[in-house]
Amino acid sequence: MLGLMQEWPLLCHKLIDHAERQHGSREVVSRSIEGPIVRTTFAEIHHRALKVAQRLERDGFGLGDRIATLAWNTARHIEAWYGIMGIGAIYHTLNPRLFPEQIAWIMNNAEDKAIFVDLTFVPLLEKIAGAVRSLRRVIVLTDRAHMPQTSLANAVAYEEWLAEADGAFAWKVFDENTAAGMCYTSGTTGDPKGVLYSHRSNVLHAMMAAMPDAMGLSTRDVALPVVPMFHANAWGLGQSGPMIGAKLVMPGCKMDGASIYELLDTEKVTFSAAVPTVWMMLLQYLEETGKKLPYLKKVVIGGASCPRAITAKFQDDYDVQVVHAWGMTEMSPLGTLCTLKPQYEALTGEARLDVQGKQGFPPFGVEMKVTDDDNNALPWDGKTFGHLKVRGPAVARAYYGGAGAEQFDADGWFDTGDVAHIDASGYMQITDRAKDVIKSGGEWISTIDLENLAVGHPDVAEAAAIGIPHSKWGERPLLVVVSKPGRAPSKGDILTFMSGKVAKWWMPDDVAFVGEIPHTATGKIQKTSLRAQFKDYRLPTD
Ligand code: AMP
Repeated sequence: MLGLMQEWPLLCHKLIDHAERQHGSREVVSRSIEGPIVRTTFAEIHHRALKVAQRLERDGFGLGDRIATLAWNTARHIEAWYGIMGIGAIYHTLNPRLFPEQIAWIMNNAEDKAIFVDLTFVPLLEKIAGAVRSLRRVIVLTDRAHMPQTSLANAVAYEEWLAEADGAFAWKVFDENTAAGMCYTSGTTGDPKGVLYSHRSNVLHAMMAAMPDAMGLSTRDVALPVVPMFHANAWGLGQSGPMIGAKLVMPGCKMDGASIYELLDTEKVTFSAAVPTVWMMLLQYLEETGKKLPYLKKVVIGGASCPRAITAKFQDDYDVQVVHAWGMTEMSPLGTLCTLKPQYEALTGEARLDVQGKQGFPPFGVEMKVTDDDNNALPWDGKTFGHLKVRGPAVARAYYGGAGAEQFDADGWFDTGDVAHIDASGYMQITDRAKDVIKSGGEWISTIDLENLAVGHPDVAEAAAIGIPHSKWGERPLLVVVSKPGRAPSKGDILTFMSGKVAKWWMPDDVAFVGEIPHTATGKIQKTSLRAQFKDYRLPTD
């Protein structure tokens, strides 16, 4: 027997419809690419998204077309997303931090037909547009007065293009499993792989993201997504913001400490989300200026392991709650968040930080397990680590075009490529990427644990641990360190600091000091290049 409840497909444009009706006057504030701070509302974004949809349709775009965006977090970018999805087309976010050739490859693979591009990236697009065979239309996210001279074919200023529509448009209706968005993962090896979100997965993910023990958003919140819309959907904030009616503050292209602080302060931001490096810049700015954070209540920190020192500083010095989070592009992207279950709530000091250093537990809608190399489930004892596998309605079931099929198994589990353990309370902790873990004498050493520990040293700016071949143990850890400006710690200083805080056999066999550690386009340490850089390195213990 079937239930007798209504069919109400979970379509993304329903989110912006809801925002318009229930939270129409709620503001969306952006630092524009042209410079000034600009203000709009959910009602206005809704109206302009309808115009985007109408105007795209007039240009001949429709169901299933991939429409790229190469843009920072602004209200215009949000309008573009909803307009694109509202005709059943697919927003395809491009990461401008990738190499131009890689972006061209991705656009060709996705067969993007049009692109919304910020002024910042016009020169970049000019370099590659000729190589993108499918591209028919370029919409520069600016007005006529700021429209640059460009060699791009079929380029038009967004505001002019939009003015040709009146917004008298009805969203298209289609199945909720229709593709809505696309984002390529920038793996450190091989070609990037496309993740294809559906309307249903985006709406369910927005609900999961907003739940109290996830981001915990309410309409009274003022949310500043520093995490870019071009990387992992701004962690769903472009959807959960309108769903909840939280005021949004969009940082545009300025993510330095002073610029972020200005927005936090003038807009009275209560909630923000970003990767650890952004928070490090902000904390450094606060330290230099002596400024405080009277409005900010909570920050979600993820994308890379959050150093303990950041969590402690936010909470002890600024009274801001830190929620450590883990996820990936393939998971829309949220996987787990670390709020405190009742059994941990009373913890204080170091014991509390120990729990908060974990990546946390998943909201309803994400299942996880850890397995050994033969896919046997491992115990949830908080120490046995293995391959982290996940499944759920907002987790990819395949990559676009069928790449990477070996990461998906017949029971619907997706192998994240991360190595983790889970404790008896259900808290997951990432210990490594599977390809980065150091295998010493048949046992695994967590490089993330070593790195987190090393950056706790007051003279260390950044640290990376890699495995170096060893004739007796197979591999042993080398710690690569970037010192803070004006500081020169010795190998002995660092090893003494770490000693006693990890198992003896995990201790690095050597420490190498470098001026810089290479990073990927998404800000992660590029272990492949680091390993290449140290391929002829001989450990003193060998
Ligand atoms: P991306 O798809 O670019 O967002 O990258 C996802 C990957 O980033 C994950 O598979 C993890 O390896 C890493 N990652 C994300 N969040 C965390 C975190 N809180 N701690 C450690 N690694 C993380």
